[in-house]
Amino acid sequence: MTQEIHPQVVQLKRSLLQRLESMERSGMTHLKKYPVIKVKIPSSATQTIRASLPRPKGPLPLPPFSPLNTASKPSTHQPEKTAKKSPALEKIEQLELSADPRCRALALVARDVSACRRCKELAETRTQTVFGVGNPYSKLVFCGEAPGADEDRQGEPFVGRAGQLLTDIIEKGMKIRRQDVYILNILRCRPPGNRNPLPIEAAHCREYLERQLRIIQPQYICCLGAVAAQNLLQNDAPIGHLRGVLHDLHGIKVLCTYHPAYLLRNPSAKRYVWDDIKILMAEMGLKI
Ligand code: SF4
Repeated sequence: MTQEIHPQVVQLKRSLLQRLESMERSGMTHLKKYPVIKVKIPSSATQTIRASLPRPKGPLPLPPFSPLNTASKPSTHQPEKTAKKSPALEKIEQLELSADPRCRALALVARDVSACRRCKELAETRTQTVFGVGNPYSKLVFCGEAPGADEDRQGEPFVGRAGQLLTDIIEKGMKIRRQDVYILNILRCRPPGNRNPLPIEAAHCREYLERQLRIIQPQYICCLGAVAAQNLLQNDAPIGHLRGVLHDLHGIKVLCTYHPAYLLRNPSAKRYVWDDIKILMAEMGLKI
């Protein structure tokens, strides 16, 4: 009986091998190499299988990684059409290539986040997930509520006008470089129309937040706005009551203050934020 290997099996095998080779080049040593399994499909069954398998237009949906290095692909063939990588995916790949253990640990979480569809509406409407950015060894983490339109487009938290104001608070106010702190949100997907996160969405995303914080091990968290403060502290008090004092979250000192977007609408509240930031700076031993 004549047998042939199904083309999709060949393509899947090639993608998996490229991915494993790439991970080895980036320094990963703990993955086990499994023997290649030759799968042969009887020709009589091939037509049936072809008909039943969906034909992907772009790259194969599996494995969930894009090949990092396509230099070894044969040049005599038509180049495969690959979808343009999102900024979020590029950031994940940078983390995966890092030799730093915390970056690699964060990459694993970011991969899970990028495939997450726990919040159906958010997963269907997002451009990409927005994981977090900054120094994974920072003792200070800033936590907002959720990505907005700019963040959804760029794959990074706090990049719009509110993000610029946060940068000013960090760099002009605290005299720290933005890249020396870590910035994340309660949610990793944009709620449509910038509505507030639903409690169930915050609960869904809590696991990722906690995994990020366990890796970064900050000593201080600055919560920006009521939604971030209430969700992180599991406290429904208004932000006016939560701000101005330090809270304890499993040994992490948490300071809550107004969200930069609120300050854009209410510039007079900047003095309260500065009062809060000074409390944080004093606690951190920073010169005011
Ligand atoms: S917000 Fe969080 S839990 Fe919800 S779909 Fe996005 S990554 Fe998943």
